[in-house]
Amino acid sequence: MKTIKKTILNASATDPNKILPMKYKWAREFYKQGVANNWVPEEVIMQNDVETWKSTKGLSDDERRLIMWNMGFFSTAESLTANNIVLSMYRHITNPECRQYLLRQAYEEAVHTDTFIYCCDTLGLDPDKVYSMYNEIPSIKAKDDFVVNMTKSILDENFSTKGAINIQRFVHDLVGFYIIMEGIFFYAGFVMMLSMLRQRKMVGVGEQFQFILRDESVHLAFGTELIKTIFAENPEVLTKEFADTIRVDILTGVELEYAYAKDCLPHGILGLQADTILQYLQYIADRRLERIGFKKEFGSKNPFPWMSEIIDLRKEKNFFETRVTEYQTGSLSWD
Ligand code: FE
Ligand code: MN
Repeated sequence: MKTIKKTILNASATDPNKILPMKYKWAREFYKQGVANNWVPEEVIMQNDVETWKSTKGLSDDERRLIMWNMGFFSTAESLTANNIVLSMYRHITNPECRQYLLRQAYEEAVHTDTFIYCCDTLGLDPDKVYSMYNEIPSIKAKDDFVVNMTKSILDENFSTKGAINIQRFVHDLVGFYIIMEGIFFYAGFVMMLSMLRQRKMVGVGEQFQFILRDESVHLAFGTELIKTIFAENPEVLTKEFADTIRVDILTGVELEYAYAKDCLPHGILGLQADTILQYLQYIADRRLERIGFKKEFGSKNPFPWMSEIIDLRKEKNFFETRVTEYQTGSLSWD
């Protein structure tokens, strides 16, 4: 019997229904990690947040702005990511263990989308306002437009991954969503919202972001593994020119995220300054570059070592005292 060589892309005879025997064990590991991290937004009690949000004293205008900007960016970024998985990536990645992970990730993106519905409902945010911010706030729109433009070509119905140029287009999409969207554009927001959590302000919203961060760090890990494997299987695509394109895109991502951070945080609050966030973005960009086999760019030190501690926490650790172990059932309304 002829053995068929399994590859991520363009395997002439990959049977997407034949998951065993498995070649890419990492895809399986990430799948299990996703399952082990399972959560839903209703697990987090929002009572204190609702009181703080509705009180005139609880938060400064700058703190409210920071929260609203992050609601505005994340509420729509999650579905942009989900759509890219389902409409673009899933068609071209025929390997069954990778598809299994993509199904899990798509579900997690649905949970994240649900989180912002839950936040709007509990806090009583104006949904029209929150869900228009990605068109109306220039620093948010610039990030979304950048990723969408990087990834447009593979949405074409006739797109196929045959040939080096098309594989490059496909990898470009992966870099756009996994490295830049999930690996850089989410991180200024994570730092801001988790800084609030550390100062015990809007603890429920902060915990929601903490759960999302933990999921996103697995998405990013899967994405970098996928990119590395595609490079290893198709070494001809990694030309100097293509490597430069990717590098420039990642560095542009850092600039756009810095502009967003300055817009969220026009004045330093919560012990945070946009410039310190830039240093953090440079630090994580270096790590993203290294993880896909590139040289680092900045050599910046991590100004927020507590971020890595949070990423590594397991759910069972019951990390904050407000952490609830029982599901809230029934109404989303606290009034
Ligand atoms: Fe997400
Ligand atoms: Mn994600």
